[in-house]
Amino acid sequence: GMGLMKGRRGLIMGLANDKSIAWGIARALADQGAELAFSYQGEALKRRVEPLAAQVGSDFLAECDVADESSIDALFQTIATRWDSMDFIVHAIGFSDKEQLRGRYADTTRENFLMTMDISVYSFTAVARRAAAMMSRGGSILTLTYYGAERVMPHYNVMGVAKAALEASVRYLAEDLGKDGIRVNAISAGPIKTLAASGIGDFRYILKWNELNSPLRRNVSQEEVGKSALYLLSDLGSGVTGETHHVDSGYHIVGMKAVDAPDI
Ligand code: NAD
Repeated sequence: GMGLMKGRRGLIMGLANDKSIAWGIARALADQGAELAFSYQGEALKRRVEPLAAQVGSDFLAECDVADESSIDALFQTIATRWDSMDFIVHAIGFSDKEQLRGRYADTTRENFLMTMDISVYSFTAVARRAAAMMSRGGSILTLTYYGAERVMPHYNVMGVAKAALEASVRYLAEDLGKDGIRVNAISAGPIKTLAASGIGDFRYILKWNELNSPLRRNVSQEEVGKSALYLLSDLGSGVTGETHHVDSGYHIVGMKAVDAPDI
């Protein structure tokens, strides 16, 4: 690589396996010389995350359940034992009851609404505040969102409402942290087959629809999200904050696709 992240240290949250969007981002950053730490949710995932971290030269792993405030505190205490400062953080975490990622949004329960907002929205603010306190040289903070925040997508339901709040959080955090030279952005990724995505009803149909109807006529990969994350997390993106950047083969600009026939 060109060494765009040489001397930069940062935390990746949300790596579950080699299909995770966090994995595409971790590889793009490590290729450019970044030093990475990883948080994983629960001991069961440690087994999967450890060998992946090793592949990108990291042995710095810490457990964190973002639903638990003391677990987030423990994570940042662990980081502070090894690093006196950090330069970036990637939040690639979302969760909702799978039973409510199908059917009607109108049927969302209060309990699942609050849980979804807690894990998928509040956790970003909770980790951004703690990470910012360690960004003495300025920094860059990134989260992952989806077009279901802006438009109604089938089955996305409460997760779409949560992503809308997450994108608003990006803007408010960008204003709060901007005076300290800290940038805050989101990548709105097109559909990618991951563990989290497999919980969404008719996900294969959504993938096919995006492939057929996006300007690039294909889906995006974890690697492509990784490359755009590199731009936002490195100095290449130094003038960009508060942004929701679409990495979706252009799907979000389409009102109605033209019929692909030569004589129309
Ligand atoms: P994934 O299943 O690989 O990653 C989701 C991660 O969230 C997992 O690592 C899981 O451990 C973590 N997580 C869930 N609850 C947690 C908790 N309480 N504490 C700590 N970690 C927790 O799936 P992914 O698709 O790579 O998801 C990453 C992000 O990308 C999510 O925010 C998702 O909404 C977003 N996104 C995904 C797509 C897609 O199509 N896959 C599209 C746009 C945005």
